[in-house]
Amino acid sequence: MGLQTLCGAPTKKGGRCRRKAMIGYSRCQLHRGDWVSTQVKKAKKRR
Ligand SMILES: [Zn+2]
Repeated sequence: MGLQTLCGAPTKKGGRCRRKAMIGYSRCQLHRGDWVSTQVKKAKKRR
């Protein structure tokens, strides 16, 4: 235990997020929110 995955989300600067991903998620807290909102938008559009 103690080993957390890195977020790795692409940033606007061209790099990758080095934040630690939240436990149970593949993205950090910052990008997790972004990811979730994106998913919701897609779901609404699809319907
Ligand atoms: Zn991130």
